Amino acid sequence: MQQFFVEGVINNNEYFPLNSDIKHQLKKVLRAENGYQFRLADEEGSLYLCELMDGDAHIINKLDENNELDVDITVVLSLIKNDKFDFAIQKLTEIGVKRIVPYKARRSVVKEGKGTNKLDRFKKIVREASEQCHRNIVPEICDYADIKTLKNYLSDVNILAYEKETFKKEGFSNLKSVTIIIGPEGGFETGEVEEFVKMGFESVSLGKRILRAETAAIFLSSLIVGANQ
Ligand code: SAH
Repeated sequence: MQQFFVEGVINNNEYFPLNSDIKHQLKKVLRAENGYQFRLADEEGSLYLCELMDGDAHIINKLDENNELDVDITVVLSLIKNDKFDFAIQKLTEIGVKRIVPYKARRSVVKEGKGTNKLDRFKKIVREASEQCHRNIVPEICDYADIKTLKNYLSDVNILAYEKETFKKEGFSNLKSVTIIIGPEGGFETGEVEEFVKMGFESVSLGKRILRAETAAIFLSSLIVGANQ
């Protein structure tokens, strides 16, 4: 069932006004008529079953659904080729991560782009993925980070995925909040790795195979989700 995220708080109003984007999607794309049922998620992460009524949402009932993870996962993902980055953030959204930090690694060939175009595209991707997978909230797309601002995104546990590492972490369970950092296609430079470790990142191997960045991000996030179900 189609879900939309709306600004404001729905509470138990009988009707909720729909903005022009949602109206366009319902009317023109979905060709919805009065009575068409859909879901709304409001700013507080509350979900409601609604039906279309003359261009507004008639609230049928609040949904008792919490589709969010208990563990708060921040993924610091180095800038990589656009299509790969886009794919990764869509999958990370479905997996349930809370925030994604685009990271300007020294070997990131792909740059941050002009203005906010790229960040706006990322936000659109994670919003649409959150609608599709019925999340209560949309993951946050943070501003570009680098070695100087990375400290703003640290959690209780901080994991550096490092392909030259031999240590394989077993215990991903009982985590409340965790930050993971994934390198670009060319990997992290030794100097970056040393800085990350100084900041408190635990260097971890994801196995003997060298994974693509997007694979490593999805794989490590999945390990954490699986151990904290
Ligand atoms: N330097 C690599 C390419 C980097 S892979 C090469 O020799 O080709 C992109 C990123 O994915 C890495 O920076 C790391 O963060 C992560 N990664 C890939 N494979 C990994 C592994 N086996 N263990 C830990 N991290 C891995």
